[in-house]
Amino acid sequence: MTDPRVDTLCREIAGDLGVPVAADEPLARWTTMGVGGPARWAFFPPDTERLLATWRALREGPLPVRVLAGGSNVIVADEGIDAAVIVLGRAGGTIRREGNELVADATVPFPALVRRAAEEGLAGLAFAEGIPGRLGGAVRMNAGTGAGELADVLAEVEVADAAGRVRRHRPGPGDFGYRESFVAREGLLVLRARLALVPADPAEIRAEMEERRARRRATQPRGRSAGCIFRNLPGQPVGAIVDRLGLKGTRIGDAAISTEHGNFIVNLGHARAADVLALVDLVREKVARETGLEPHLEVEIWRDPR
Ligand SMILES: Cc1cc2nc3c(=O)[nH]c(=O)nc-3n(C[C@H](O)[C@H](O)[C@H](O)COP(=O)(O)OP(=O)(O)OC[C@H]3O[C@@H](n4cnc5c(N)ncnc54)[C@H](O)[C@@H]3O)c2cc1C
Repeated sequence: MTDPRVDTLCREIAGDLGVPVAADEPLARWTTMGVGGPARWAFFPPDTERLLATWRALREGPLPVRVLAGGSNVIVADEGIDAAVIVLGRAGGTIRREGNELVADATVPFPALVRRAAEEGLAGLAFAEGIPGRLGGAVRMNAGTGAGELADVLAEVEVADAAGRVRRHRPGPGDFGYRESFVAREGLLVLRARLALVPADPAEIRAEMEERRARRRATQPRGRSAGCIFRNLPGQPVGAIVDRLGLKGTRIGDAAISTEHGNFIVNLGHARAADVLALVDLVREKVARETGLEPHLEVEIWRDPR
């Protein structure tokens, strides 16, 4: 879409709301994988109030709207995207305690929330030690590990729909699945979440977190990545299949299948999205041939429809 009126409109929205904006913003800067091209427009709301206002204003406009929070589960194509992207990498947020619950803005870094729960002596989030990103991304992805998932402790989620209407939702059966949620299905924006936790000895929580941190250090790469590329197949971790197929260490350009974890692709320095995506295709094809099952992506690939 090249209509200059769209650009004027984006500038006006940003000016009216007092939200910093940038044209042709390189999204590689805002993702943990560190690849990919620009967004036509990037908006940087500093807080939840302006996040909602930006969402409402952009939703009425002609460009597709996307939200990029911690950027730890997204791979952006080299061509970039013709969209208005709400980037939350600079946004602030608050966490408050109410009884045994923590109420936090979606913009809060998820690791900070996990730490805060431990400091408060509230158990239930230690499973998430080491998961990067922001709370809103974690809700949408139902972030989790073998030891638990966010849905286990979510008491309430405050969301805005595509028309900007805000509602509080108490999750029920069917709202969350393995790395998926009603938030994704319904195209909602997460504003806040309330987590129901259980009082416990802070030292015990910290010990569990330390154990999980050590396990992660021993099994996952430290370099730039987007975490696990594929959802695991029923009863079969994709990383183990990749290992069995001898694919660990396979390299295309500056992207490589991690030597530590077969379901991670790492950016060795100057990878292009095309390199990463070529490896994604290679793994998908080989795993499908080996198992007869098509592995589904856990990461999101952002590119314009062709
Ligand atoms: C080293 C590493 C380890 C990881 N380990 C794990 C793990 O153990 N378990 C796990 O589940 N994941 C893991 N991940 C993946 C990732 O960290 C999680 O999926 C995380 O919850 C994504 O959060 P984010 O803020 O980075 O989301 P982003 O990558 O920014 O976005 C992911 C999706 O959420 C949407 N989104 C973000 N914020 C909002 C919002 N406020 N409202 C609505 N939609 C929103 C985005 O539009 C996008 O669709 C790992 C990633 C890395 C890099």
